[in-house]
Amino acid sequence: MTIPYKPQQSPIDLGLATPIAAVFPPAYLALRWGGHLDGVPDGEPGHIKFVFNKLKPTIGLALGGQFFRLLQFHFHAPSEHKVSRKGWPLELHIVHQKPKSDSLVVLGIMVEEGHGHPEAHRFFREFTACYADNASPTAISIDPHDLLPENRGDFYRYEGSLTTKADEDNAETVSWLIFREPLQVDRATLRKFIGLGHQAKKLQELHRRFVLTSFVPPG
Ligand SMILES: [Zn+2]
Repeated sequence: MTIPYKPQQSPIDLGLATPIAAVFPPAYLALRWGGHLDGVPDGEPGHIKFVFNKLKPTIGLALGGQFFRLLQFHFHAPSEHKVSRKGWPLELHIVHQKPKSDSLVVLGIMVEEGHGHPEAHRFFREFTACYADNASPTAISIDPHDLLPENRGDFYRYEGSLTTKADEDNAETVSWLIFREPLQVDRATLRKFIGLGHQAKKLQELHRRFVLTSFVPPG
């Protein structure tokens, strides 16, 4: 088998890659989002994202001591990443970029039906309402912490790519951090949001890739 020019494409099945249980320092992922941030839904169905209004340049996160600015949220349905062939109805990507660089950190959050944080319900409900007939996008205030699962200590870390171009290779500039626990959003709200239409790229070859886990993987 030959290894292609771009061997680190995303998404992948996180459960089928070679796992390495790692001990991360407590401040490995340091969120610096502050609190509530304002933004608007943007983009046509299939490419829907949430863009922020005038973010201060200090809003973002530090990963392993390096700072990345918060850029946008976007969505994929069904989830792009899988774990041992299990997928989820929706995957949220929170994109951050290193200043003056094309290096990205993307936080991945799986979303399933359930009883989650009321603020997460409100966010998805207001977002969907912006795409109703005759509606115009209105600003939505959200604290991104409310879109994370409760357990933020268990995650997968691997090096991969964007998934923007569905039929070709994408730039391999992404450090992925994907939370193990899904976010829950009530059934009706989640179904309506998924109904807006979101693209999802198919699983890519692993090419002997390893995935770091902050927990001891089962089996
Ligand atoms: Zn994405």
